[in-house]
Amino acid sequence: MNLSDEINNLFSRQQEEWELLRTAVSQRSAVREKTFSWGDDFRVKVQYNPARIISTGALIDSKTIEKRPCFLCAGNRPPQQRGISFLERYQILCNPYPVVENHLTIPLHSHVPQRIRRKISDMLSLAELLPDYVVFYNGPHSGASAPDHFHLQAGHKSPVLLQGDHALRTCLMIESTDKEEVEELFEDVYQYLHHLQPEEEEPMMNVITFTEQNRYKLHLFPRKAHRPRQYFEEGNKQLMISPGALDIAGLIITVREEDFNKIESNDIEDVYAQVSLPVI
Ligand SMILES: [Zn+2]
Repeated sequence: MNLSDEINNLFSRQQEEWELLRTAVSQRSAVREKTFSWGDDFRVKVQYNPARIISTGALIDSKTIEKRPCFLCAGNRPPQQRGISFLERYQILCNPYPVVENHLTIPLHSHVPQRIRRKISDMLSLAELLPDYVVFYNGPHSGASAPDHFHLQAGHKSPVLLQGDHALRTCLMIESTDKEEVEELFEDVYQYLHHLQPEEEEPMMNVITFTEQNRYKLHLFPRKAHRPRQYFEEGNKQLMISPGALDIAGLIITVREEDFNKIESNDIEDVYAQVSLPVI
């Protein structure tokens, strides 16, 4: 049985034995979405997904993180949550707060900080094993709600998630049939971005990888801010959007109905301009 089949089985089994996941998956069909377009070449879907408040509203300052039990450490996970071993050092888990179809969280066994540099190869290996999926990464200050425990995520491909560079936000694209070449080019880009943000533990970024016709594709979205100004506003001015890899690619998650109803294309342009790092 290949990994895709094993994951499908895991989802079926987990929905039978884990009520939280069963409810979440059944509610996914009721998730509302609307689409904005910029010409023929760029689309953004806005999704209303109230269950994601757990991530969008997450406090990720070091004091809060130190105090809470890490929800990605095996000992703290819900007893019903089962996983599939990957590369003998990760567990592939069903995400109980899905944004995309077959949303997976893939924590490393050990509790080590969210840093992608030496793990890009693992990410590409997973993308290779799962041709119908995108595998994505949120940096510690770029959307990860567990910045203290290394994890990847994955979910079924959809056209908005595969979009490359656009005037609204930066996307650096690496593509090759040769995995090592992708890793080397990623390292070059990493070093360049590190030079732009030497004060960060790692340059702020989101990464999406996937394969298409046996080619590895890596989309790197450099970031300059974690959350836009509107996140911290009050009353009618507030827009509770906390962008991660999916949002920056083109699937923006809103957790409050009022935000879903009022968001306009100029808000989307403004949010991208605030969090995306222009790179020449
Ligand atoms: Zn942990």
